[in-house]
Amino acid sequence: MQTAPAGAPLTIDASTGLLAGARQVLSPHYDTRPAGSSPELIVVHGISLPPGEFGGPWIDRLFTGTLPAEAHPYFREISGRRVSAHALIRRDGEIVQYVPFEARAWHAGESEYRGRAACNDFSIGIELEGTDDTPYTQAQYGALAALTAALLATYGSLSAEAIVGHSDVAPGRKTDPGPLFDWARFHTLLKEVHAA
Ligand SMILES: [Zn+2]
Repeated sequence: MQTAPAGAPLTIDASTGLLAGARQVLSPHYDTRPAGSSPELIVVHGISLPPGEFGGPWIDRLFTGTLPAEAHPYFREISGRRVSAHALIRRDGEIVQYVPFEARAWHAGESEYRGRAACNDFSIGIELEGTDDTPYTQAQYGALAALTAALLATYGSLSAEAIVGHSDVAPGRKTDPGPLFDWARFHTLLKEVHAA
């Protein structure tokens, strides 16, 4: 298990796009970025399945296309969706990776960042296990800062200034990671990890 407190450096193998030490649950829901596109933006999301419940196997199942529709009424709505994210940070700070970082994951949907549509083409999507109205955990902030620092160190096309919430690139359609996500706390931690 990857618990990544702030300050613990994480490393990404640039040849495979995989995070060392992460639990790898590779998703079939990805493809290659358009020619000439590289990761320039990090999109932070929030997710829980069923909504408001933490710790089950269902996020892995959704992102691998194996969510059983009959297991929960909500799953009937979403079980056929072909979606993914590059990584998930669980409530205890464990990092799960679904898609190699240089590939295109299917997380942002219809979206726009500074006049550019289709954010999946040029972004990395990181899910935090949570809801809009539950504070994220210290372990999650620590792991997110450590993962972000590793991404910044690996992909020179990324920048600490280009990190947004899903709600920022799909306003009116998406609200995650929600108003309780503490951007100032995250950026403070990121600076600490980055300087370490
Ligand atoms: Zn989202």
